[in-house]
Amino acid sequence: MNRITIAIDGFSSCGKSTLAKQLAGHLGYTYIDSGAMYRAVALYVVENALVRDGTLDKAGLMQVLDGLDICFQHDPMTGRSATWLNGRNVEQEIRGMEVSRHVTLVSPVPEVRAKLVKLQQAFGKERGVVMDGRDIGTVVFPHAEVKLFMTARPEVRAQRRYHELKLKGAEVDLASVVENIAQRDLDDTTRAADPLTKATDAIEIDNSDITAEEQFVKALDIVLEVLARVGQE
Ligand code: C5P
Repeated sequence: MNRITIAIDGFSSCGKSTLAKQLAGHLGYTYIDSGAMYRAVALYVVENALVRDGTLDKAGLMQVLDGLDICFQHDPMTGRSATWLNGRNVEQEIRGMEVSRHVTLVSPVPEVRAKLVKLQQAFGKERGVVMDGRDIGTVVFPHAEVKLFMTARPEVRAQRRYHELKLKGAEVDLASVVENIAQRDLDDTTRAADPLTKATDAIEIDNSDITAEEQFVKALDIVLEVLARVGQE
């Protein structure tokens, strides 16, 4: 059977990764979390004092960017893929609020995007990939056979993210989660380089009032229809 590329874009905490993992698991495809890669760069700048008073030391980042080694490896402990930065498993650290607060300092930097987009395109070269992010259907895989654009009401997204962080044992309050999501949405949609926007050929799914299972069924229908068409070509 022909393998296709599935691009899932949308705002922060829209359930993109839940859907992407479900689809990849069902189809036997590879799931790539592109946001984790931007988060890994953010972790690097935080840990290496390349952010001071909320300002990124861009020149400092440029000196080390080429050498940053970001990849994914299977974690036998969790049975899932984990993000690695310079030979270290950083899956836990990149999910915290500290990284969430700093990630939109690095994601607008064109050189960072160029490096990560190139890596993402290499991961997807063999097709059979589900990738989620902000610019997957517009920049990384503009020819993806399936493009989904996820949305949900802001308050629904904030509640979901808050519960997710709490479940992981994080010390967070709802107000700072709401603020972070709103700020990242604004930063992601207004940046000059590859802003978050819906590809003209993307199908929008608003999951505010549907369950993850209902969302999966909806998306799988779309994918199966495309697979049937591609199989006949
Ligand atoms: O998907 P996630 O919320 O983990 O992404 C973290 C941040 O990484 C986003 O807020 C955005 O600034 C950046 N990002 C991006 N392009 C992508 C994926 C994520 O700019 N393809």
